[in-house]
Amino acid sequence: MTARLIDGKALAEQVRAGVAERVTRLRAASRQPALAVILVGADPASQVYVRNKIAACEKAGIRSLHETFGADLREAELLARIHALNHDDTVHGILVQLPLPAHIDAQRVIEAISPRKDVDGFHVASAGALMVGQPGFRPCTPLGCVRMLEHIGMGDLRGKHAVVVGRSNIVGKPMAMMLLGMNATVTIAHSGTPDLAETCRRADVLVAAVGRPRMIGADMIKPGAVVIDVGINRLADGSLCGDVDFAAARERAGWITPVPGGVGPMTIAMLLSNTVQACEQA
Ligand code: NDP
Repeated sequence: MTARLIDGKALAEQVRAGVAERVTRLRAASRQPALAVILVGADPASQVYVRNKIAACEKAGIRSLHETFGADLREAELLARIHALNHDDTVHGILVQLPLPAHIDAQRVIEAISPRKDVDGFHVASAGALMVGQPGFRPCTPLGCVRMLEHIGMGDLRGKHAVVVGRSNIVGKPMAMMLLGMNATVTIAHSGTPDLAETCRRADVLVAAVGRPRMIGADMIKPGAVVIDVGINRLADGSLCGDVDFAAARERAGWITPVPGGVGPMTIAMLLSNTVQACEQA
């Protein structure tokens, strides 16, 4: 079997077109969605992510405020800036690019963002809302994965087993919670999971969010499974690959996301969607 591709790039374009329409409606009512993107330090990967997010905002008609600070910024100064943005009615979303320098407590910074502007969905109030099934901002990467599943007609996973490999607060845990909300039976696997291959082979939906190049081989995939590869790994030759051995997995899975061109573009599209939602709800 050769798996069908879930084209994240094409689906992200659709989401972005929908976002642009919502922006047009807001602007017609004299409202301009705006996202503040805060970057502390000069981490090259973070600079690229921030640039991409800002370019995507501009394309969708969302105003972006790009706030860059040196790596020596004091935590108190960053918190003060966030407080000011919380009280600025012309700003609807606040995003602090992670990682932050080691002297800054990232969780304290995230908690300083108003949950009404927490478009990354990392605030403890947003995580709690997801946990108890209440409205709130959902983290963009797992939200993008859900959209992909819905797109291929897998919006209801009753009777299906989903396995998430990875338990980070920004991907693995919220992903598992969202899959549970879609009625799947969910297993979260991590570095301490014994016999990971056997666990993965039970998955009708397998989400890999580990950060290890091609660690999920074809032998870990149930024939016909949906494989969502969140991992983005840069190889020594400069190319990108996911956590899944794509070429081998493609011969076994039913559906698979490529890297690049899969989850990555969806993440940015969901950030735009969350930002417009924040403006609609303001
Ligand atoms: P983290 O490093 O925070 O988490 C990685 C998770 O993988 C941890 O839970 C870890 O387990 C688990 N893990 C590590 N090694 C193994 C192993 N051998 N077997 C099983 N589990 C293992 O990463 P993130 O969640 O932030 O990101 C994961 C990947 O997704 C990265 O490649 C990142 O670049 C990518 N990413 C992609 C995005 C996109 O838009 N496409 C957005 C965000 C991230 P343990 O908890 O036990 O240590």
